Amino acid sequence: MSPRFWDCLDLQAFTDAACEVPYQQIKSGLFPGFDVWVRRDDLIDPIISGNKAYKLLFNLIEARDRGAEILITCGGAWSNHIHAVAAAGARFGFRTVGVIRGEIPAILNANLQDAQRFGMKLKFVTRTQYRKRNQPDFLHEVGLEPGSAYFIPEGGSNLLGIKGVQLLGKVIEETAPVAFDQMWVACGTGATFAGFSVGIRNISVIGVEILKAGDSILKDAGLWIERLSATRLGHLEKDKSGTRLPLDRLSDLRLRLLSQYHCGGYGKYPKALADFQREFEDQVNIPLDPIYTSKLFNALKKITAKDGEQRGVRALALHTGGLQGRRGYCLKS
Ligand SMILES: *Cc1c(COP(=O)(O)O)cnc(C)c1O
Repeated sequence: MSPRFWDCLDLQAFTDAACEVPYQQIKSGLFPGFDVWVRRDDLIDPIISGNKAYKLLFNLIEARDRGAEILITCGGAWSNHIHAVAAAGARFGFRTVGVIRGEIPAILNANLQDAQRFGMKLKFVTRTQYRKRNQPDFLHEVGLEPGSAYFIPEGGSNLLGIKGVQLLGKVIEETAPVAFDQMWVACGTGATFAGFSVGIRNISVIGVEILKAGDSILKDAGLWIERLSATRLGHLEKDKSGTRLPLDRLSDLRLRLLSQYHCGGYGKYPKALADFQREFEDQVNIPLDPIYTSKLFNALKKITAKDGEQRGVRALALHTGGLQGRRGYCLKS
């Protein structure tokens, strides 16, 4: 692989880096009957990794065009987005402030230590305050003066963030080494899933929910898709098996959200998942993160075991990065 990285805040430079991201075919017995490939977006940049890079691209360009000198964002203590924003600020010349959910810890974890080293100012807020993160007066609520700062919501999941994921969809259409039937992606807020759903035509997109979110990912993704594609989706429903069955127009877009593979909820890492991750890494030699991509591939394994009759499906799984988070689970990074 050529040692490219995201070296300047420019659409073309970023797109060039995205076009260099390698695809890797998995040769192992883990996914019987499926031809599984991984797009290694964990490698798009050594520090600003995975889908967070795509979600930041247009936000950073917008911040610069507005003349903003400060980026403010928010997230949990192990947020990959916080890490990415802090790194991007250091690289592209923004000061950064991170509003972090929860009490100030006695010792900062490795993620927040990195963020601080990248120059990010950390502001810890109570969980009650943090719940208001999507309300317009959130920054006042936590005692910050927004002034001319540019605010990026949690996970970089706003319209500009999703446009970055759409760009990834186009890059995949142009660079895919074979024709894929399915695209698999891990869902936190669902913004990445939504961006793909609109950015990629002719490939079925399957999202694996990594948290117990009730219907919120489905609803949020549905709203984004409607906004981006100006399509009315009708209503969305879930069947008894926990597979979200898109109805009406959404099924034209061939989208599915799987809600049964969160392994207990966000950040939960039961032994069976740890065992699977170890097995995957031993056989495939691609490192996964414990929060998102381990659950993505675990779900894919369970589906392939179940859907034995669906032979010959060509699936592309997106490695959305997050490897820095391995340090929270004592996995070597
Ligand atoms: C944030 C993140 C996701 C989820 O992205 P959403 O757009 O919030 O659904 C998936 N994988 C990794 C590694 C992430 O850091």
